[in-house]
Amino acid sequence: MNVRIEPRKPTDRGGYICMPLKKNVPEGHTGWKPAKCPACGRECWTDPARELLVRTQGAIPLCTECALGKGERK
Ligand SMILES: [Zn+2]
Repeated sequence: MNVRIEPRKPTDRGGYICMPLKKNVPEGHTGWKPAKCPACGRECWTDPARELLVRTQGAIPLCTECALGKGERK
């Protein structure tokens, strides 16, 4: 089985996946699952589509606020 790895540029933000924060979307949506942001630990939401990207592409899930820049300096 071949695993293709896409080259990433330093400016490429495709490696991050935004997870909506629970405080912004308290009710969630159908199919969403509770998760925790690995950078700040706040509660947020993930879903099967995001989990698939994490598994298949090594993408890093971050809450929206970390994805906007706060978490990347850590
Ligand atoms: Zn965060």
